[in-house]
Parts: sequence; structure tokens; C-alpha cells
Amino acid sequence: MTEMPTCIGCGVRIQTENPEEPGYAPPKTLEKEQIICQRCFRLKHYNEIQPVRLTDDDFLRILNGLSEHDGLIVKIVDIFDFNGSFIPGIHRFVGNNPVLLVANKSDLLPKSVKREKVIRWLKRACRDFGLFPVDVKLVSAHKGYGMDEVIETIEQYRDGKDVFVVGCTNVGKSTFINQIIKRVTGEGNLITTSHFPGTTLDMIEIPLDDGKAIYDTPGIINHHQMAHHIHESELKYITPKKEIKPKVYQLNSNQTLFIGGLARFDFLKGNRNSFTIYVSNDLPIHRTKLEKADALYEEHKGELLSPPSKEYLEYLPEFVRHEFSIKEGKTDIVISGLGWITVQQPNAVVACHAPKGVEVFIRPSLI
Ligand code: GDP
Repeated sequence: MTEMPTCIGCGVRIQTENPEEPGYAPPKTLEKEQIICQRCFRLKHYNEIQPVRLTDDDFLRILNGLSEHDGLIVKIVDIFDFNGSFIPGIHRFVGNNPVLLVANKSDLLPKSVKREKVIRWLKRACRDFGLFPVDVKLVSAHKGYGMDEVIETIEQYRDGKDVFVVGCTNVGKSTFINQIIKRVTGEGNLITTSHFPGTTLDMIEIPLDDGKAIYDTPGIINHHQMAHHIHESELKYITPKKEIKPKVYQLNSNQTLFIGGLARFDFLKGNRNSFTIYVSNDLPIHRTKLEKADALYEEHKGELLSPPSKEYLEYLPEFVRHEFSIKEGKTDIVISGLGWITVQQPNAVVACHAPKGVEVFIRPSLI
């Protein structure tokens, strides 16, 4: 199946089926070289909001508005869900403003991981998305790692101007801003809100000494994440809270791994290979033979294979199968918001089953 292109405006994957859903473009636009989704088209040419999810539209308006401001854009991503939290089209909305990329939640990465390697990976991934940040920083807003350095970097690149912090919900934007407030102002009570022209949403304004400010823009919801497809009471099992302990499996072809009852990974073809799983430490992994996998799932979902537990199984969308032919060693199969599986050796055919709506894709290994 050929993959659909992405919108040159907001970066969303184009679809031609459902005008109510993000990424819709009329089928005939597929003939064009550069495709823009209907929502971006209207926003751009008619300054008109389509009655689809308000959060997304308001977010796009805010991004559009940023190009009329002069300042430093601090873009926050979640290192645990880089692609899901990236907001691909962002550089087209921010005009000529410099972008500083901050990857948060570094405390989740195994301690053995080299920071420089992750930063190199991040720079390359940005380039692949067409974003050329002035710098890339790895922090843990929660633990405070790297925060002093990032504040210095912001000071350096903002060049006496305002700072706009942007990011998806859940990347830790509030935690990040709170750390800055604590460190820069030494007190908590300086936040004011400011109305962003053209939107119904308020931004939080943190005044800086020189009359400029740091603005916290509202976050956009990342719809492809696992978090939006399971019941909120079970979110705690999939969201890692501390350093991930990778689990290594040596598999022969025709073996299957279940990640709780949330995803299934089949090793279909290839020599014996090593697979490293990076997910929340609370998620149990079960190994079985491929031929038994369907029956095992039917019999044990909600119990042995959980989360989700029986009580919340009905919230889980049906599984969709994604097959990949892995040519290079050290390739990650990413299940957006759940984690990833690194295939260590080249030449393997694998399939990953994940709930409908959750993005599954491959990338060069992060670690
Ligand atoms: P926002 O929606 O982007 O404003 O995100 P929040 O600041 O509310 O954080 C979202 C979730 O991520 C919360 O559960 C935070 O505790 C968690 N979080 C934020 N920063 C970090 C971090 O540096 N490391 C880890 N492990 N979790 C974080």
C-alpha cells in the first residue's frame, strides 16, 4: 500500500474519506505535487475555521499568529513519543522566527544512553521533517536535568525578544514552564494571561526583566497516541514514570510477543534475531508461537494479556496489522505513545498489531 502524503501546511497525514476528520482533502488534490488539507487551505486563504475539532483549529491559528510576532519559538517534544509529539508542519507557521527544540522526559531513557547520540538523532529527525532548529536540548523538566543549560540557551537565542513555548498536550510543557518560573523569578506568582489575537484561547504570560515575556501557548492534542484509545483509568500503566528498563528477547521466526493486551508483535521471517522492547516497566510481555497467538489473545485478553483489564476491554479499538520488511539493523518499530521495539539485526519481516487509530511506523533506532 502506498502511504498517503502529508499536508504541507500542518503535516497531518492526508485522507480523502472523511471531511469531518483531520487531514481531509478532496480526492482530486492527490494529483497535485504539494497537497494541503482542507482545513489549512481554508485557514490560509479564507481565514476561516472549519467546524472540526476546535482544539486543532485554534492551535493552527495560534501557530499562524506566531509568524507575525518576533521572538524565539521553544518547541517541546516528548522523547518517549518523539514523532507523535513533533507537530510536523510547525516551521511553516512560525515564519522567520528561530526555533529551539527541547526534548523533554530524558529521565525515561536508560542511563546508559549517550546524550550526544540522542541529540544527533534528534537533529537528523528534525532535518527529515524540514525543521532546522538553532539548537537541540535534552531535558527532564520533571527532575530538573538540563534546565539551567536550556535557560541559558533561551537567553542567548531570544536576543532580547519574546519567547513562545509550543508543544502537544502531555509533552510536559507546564512542568517545563513551572521550572523556568522557579529558576528565573524565584517565585510563583508572576503569571498573567494574555489574549492571543484571533483565537478564543488565552496564553500564559511570564514577564521577563527586560519588558519581554515567555508565552505558554495552549497545547494541541495528539490524536494518534495510544493514550486516546484506552480508558483513562488505565493510562497509568502505559505512561512510563521512571527510567525504562529495556527488555531483550531472542526470537526465532514465527514467534510472537504481546505487550499486555495493547499490542502484538510477530516475527515472521528472518534468521534468529534480537528484539529490545522499550515500554513502561509496568507492562507485562508474553511470548508465544505465532500459530497460537490468535487463540491466546481470544482466550486471555483482559486477564493474562492486560491492560486493558476485562472491565475496560470495550474501550479498546480493534487491532490493525502493520507489516514491515526491515532491511537495516537497529530499526525501531514505534507504537505511538506506547513505546518501541528495536530490531537489532537486518533482514527481518515483522508485523505489529495495534489498536485502530494508533500510529505504527519504523525509524532508525533512537538508542
Ligand atoms: P503539558 O500537557 O504539556 O502541559 O504537560 P504536563 O506538564 O502537564 O505533563 C504531562 C505529564 O508528563 C505529567 O504526567 C507529568 O508528570 C509528566 N512529565 C512532565 N515532565 C516530565 C519529565 O521530565 N519526565 C517525566 N518522566 N515525566 C514528565
